[in-house]
Amino acid sequence: MASSISIEDRVAHLRDELERLAAELSGIGFTAAGSLVRRYTHCASDGCRCNADPPQPHGPYWQWSKAVDGKTVTKRLREDQVPLYQEWIANRRRLRRVVAQMAAVSEQATRLLLSQANGHPGN
Ligand SMILES: [Zn+2]
Repeated sequence: MASSISIEDRVAHLRDELERLAAELSGIGFTAAGSLVRRYTHCASDGCRCNADPPQPHGPYWQWSKAVDGKTVTKRLREDQVPLYQEWIANRRRLRRVVAQMAAVSEQATRLLLSQANGHPGN
């Protein structure tokens, strides 16, 4: 590696980056798995507008769903619960992104430190 920056400096930079990511992580707040969908439904009542021609389905309803052991679990949400779920689901995406970045930074640091320990650049 033809770099004038020492391994120590590069590791120190990575450590700063890791700390920045850890701080970001601590500010994320509550998270929720799954996803939200807006659904229209049809009921079982023959005379209902949802079964008319043309049909006017009920809804839209907000539904949260999540895969659990290969099965999809769903829950209907009240209107006031929707913003919370939207925020928490977004938080979870952010959480995963930050954790992935932390892992990438750690891998870079590991490579640098191992190359130093071995006396030649690792890969
Ligand atoms: Zn109906």
